[in-house]
Order: sequence, then C-alpha cells, then structure tokens
Amino acid sequence: MAESELPQPPEHLSSEEFRKHGHALIDWIADYWDRIEDLPVESSVSPGSVRELLPPEAPQKGEPFADLIRDLDEIVMPGITHWQHPSWFSFFPANASPPSVLAELVSAGLGVQGMLWSTSPAATEIESHVLDWLVDLMDLPSEWKTTSLGGGVLQMSASDSTHTSLVVARHQAMKRGVNPTAMVAYASTQTHSSIQKGATVAGYRHIRLIPVDDKQAMDISALRAALASDKAEGLVPVFVAATLGTTGTTAVDPIRPIGEICQEENLWLHVDAAYAGNAMICPEFRHHQDGLELVDSYTFNPHKWLMVNFDCSVFYVADRSPLIDCLSILPPYLKNEASESGAVIDYRDWHVPLGRRFRSLKLWWVIRSYGVEGLQSMIRYHVALTERLAEKLKSDPRFEVVAPHPFALVCFRCTAGDEATQSLAEAVNGSPNVAWTGSELDGRPMIRVSIGQRTTDEGHVDALWDLIDELA
Ligand SMILES: *Cc1c(COP(=O)(O)O)cnc(C)c1O
Repeated sequence: MAESELPQPPEHLSSEEFRKHGHALIDWIADYWDRIEDLPVESSVSPGSVRELLPPEAPQKGEPFADLIRDLDEIVMPGITHWQHPSWFSFFPANASPPSVLAELVSAGLGVQGMLWSTSPAATEIESHVLDWLVDLMDLPSEWKTTSLGGGVLQMSASDSTHTSLVVARHQAMKRGVNPTAMVAYASTQTHSSIQKGATVAGYRHIRLIPVDDKQAMDISALRAALASDKAEGLVPVFVAATLGTTGTTAVDPIRPIGEICQEENLWLHVDAAYAGNAMICPEFRHHQDGLELVDSYTFNPHKWLMVNFDCSVFYVADRSPLIDCLSILPPYLKNEASESGAVIDYRDWHVPLGRRFRSLKLWWVIRSYGVEGLQSMIRYHVALTERLAEKLKSDPRFEVVAPHPFALVCFRCTAGDEATQSLAEAVNGSPNVAWTGSELDGRPMIRVSIGQRTTDEGHVDALWDLIDELA
C-alpha cells in the first residue's frame, strides 16, 4: 500500500490537555467528597430519565473534553446514589478512600494485563506479597501464604471467589470418581445468595440450606442430619460454605465444629467472610474465626469495609495445587520461559478470567497510607458507634434488637408490631439525609443499620437516632 493511502490515525488528547482535565477531575472528586453531605443520599430519578438525557446516537466526531466533565454534573450526578455519604447505613459499606482512588488512577494509566507473571512481574509480585502480609495482619493460618502451600489472589467479588471454590471442590470430587449429578453443597438458610448462585453455575444439582439456631448461626446437628440423609439416598456431600458475618445480621457460623465434620467426611470447606473478615485486622474479633486451620478456602472483601474501592475481593486457598490443577490451561501463545521454570505465579490459573487488572496497587497503597493502626481504628470506631446505637435501641421500650451485633451492623424491630417496623423503615428512608435497609428476619420485617462509611462519625449516628426517635 502506498503511503498516501494510509488512513489517518486518531487524534488523542495531548499530554497538556490530559494534565489539565486530570487535575480538574481530581478537584472535582475532592469537591464531591467535601459537599456530599448536602446531597440526598439516594438518587430519586425515575426509570429511563437518565437515558432521556443522552443523545440517541454516539457522536461521529470527538467532542471537547470540557463537555464531558459538564455532563458529569448534569447527567450523571442526579442518577447517583451516594454510597460515600456518611449517613449511608444501607446494605454494607462500599468504601472509597483517597489512596485507593489514586492507586486506581495509576493502575488505569499503566493499563497492564497481569494474567501472567511475565506480562507485568510487579503486578503479580505485589499482589502475592500484600496478600501474604494480610495473612499475618489477620492472623490467618500461615499455610495460606504463597510462600507456603496455599496462597491468596484478588478477584472481582466474593461471588467469584465462592464460585471458584465450588468449581475446584467439584473438580476434586470428580477426580475421586464422584458422579457430578450426585454432588451436594451445603450452606445455612442465612447464607448469601452468591453461594446458591455459584453452586448452580458450577453444576451442583443439590443445594441444602441448613437451619440456623437462635443466633442465626448454622445448626450443627441439622448439618449432620442432612449429611446422613443425603448419603442414605445415594447422594455425595462435597462442599460446605460457612459464613463469618452473614449479610442479614452478621451471624457467625461455628467454623471449628463445621470444620471437624468436613474433615471426617472429606468435604471442601469454604468460609465466606465478605464483610466481617475485614474486622480481623483487630485481634479482639479473632475468636470468631477459630478453626480456620480446618478450612480449604476463604474470601473477604476489602472493597466493603477496608477502604479499598470496588473491586477488590481476597480469595485464599489452604493448598493451591487443586486450584491450579482445576483452572490451568496452556494455549501455545501463553507459553513462556518464566512460567515453564515453575518459579513464578501466573494468576490466570487462579480464577476464571484470563485478563486481570493491577488491583493490588489499591490494597498496597491503602495499607501503607493508613498503616495497620489506621485501619484498626476505623473498624473499632464503627463498632463502638454501633454499640452506642444498639444501647439506645435496647434501653427504649419501643424497640427490640433482634440479633447479636458482633460487628458494625445492628438489626431491630418496633415492639408495637410489624406494621410499626415497616412504616418506620419507610419513613426514615423517606428522609433525603439518610439511607438504611428495610429487610426481613424469620418472615417478619426488621431494619438493618450498617455503620461503616469511612467518614461516618458520632454526629451522623446521633442524627439517625434523633430521626428514629422522632418518626417511631
Ligand atoms: C456482600 C456479601 C457477598 C457478596 O459480595 P460481592 O463481592 O458483591 O460478590 C457475599 N457474602 C456475604 C456474606 C456478603 O455480605
């Protein structure tokens, strides 16, 4: 092809323009965080109203970048629910923090694919190293380190970690000759929906939800009974998920007795600590994780309560060989000397996706910027604020706290009855200044108050109490 026939390459923003808009956007984010309390916590736009503001067709020619920033305010912001608002008491937290956002920016600028060690050694080695740090910081079994038999890997979500563990457990059982159609997975009735979903996607035909005790924790004798009855019917128990901090009430399944059963019965034990695992950075919560040395895999989400913005889910295995045995596939274009030497970790073999972001930079920078003490102080502060609110609820005859609150979630009802609970849930959510989650426990309404946004302070919790007091 003659040179004159070459098509024109695209025009990029110049370095100067990139700097200018980049600085403006950092200012925009900082201003957003400064003014967030003046914004209604939840977006109130009606369905389709954001799309109505968008042109029907994509632009043929590039637009001035300043227009894009303008539309952030005009089109995007009205449709944003402010998870970073200090009066965010809904679901669980999904915290962003300054060091995490800056790391995210750098990761995007580097734009690396860390699928193999050789495709960016720093991405792999920092990830392995920081996840080994966390084993010590949270007093997890030392075999879980990459320098030992196991290892940690970052995934997008706890759902992915759990799905991966279900797939590996199934693969191991198939290697023992178990027919996949006979495999059974167990979790409690309070388990997160991701376990049922993961088991369904992984091809388990039988999923048993085991009843819980009065503390919402898995009933061990019911687990034993379910195992016995399935075996009597010719089915093969394969997988048990225990939850450390359920989504409903933060109940803790008894890991040690469940682990002992799993050892006796040769079952894969996965622990889902998506939310509460973060608290283990403080020694005083670690009695809840007693028995982890009996566990095969474990997940928790720094993107919930450790100030690393979504996505950043940690997945540990006690022994990495079954994981790699199940998930490693080597097409010729990925062959390389470093992998063949066996001296490196190729994280593509540790999860379903091939391509992977440099997520560990966020986790590394958050830990370094806050220090362990900074992270501990946030957890302790939120737990103390929760305790304070729980005491107020308990000492007021209009309310009853319906479950233990070992972390920073308190669940309560109105003693006047279900209708009173329901209308309080709605009345408080009707206020623009706060958001919480109306939910259900044992088929009856309850209210969940999750205190975990990084800038929530006692003033916000006291204001919430005043609102409860006024509207109840
Ligand atoms: C939040 C939560 C999950 C889901 O986490 P994702 O990272 O969104 O998949 C799973 N289990 C528990 C106990 C949770 O609280």
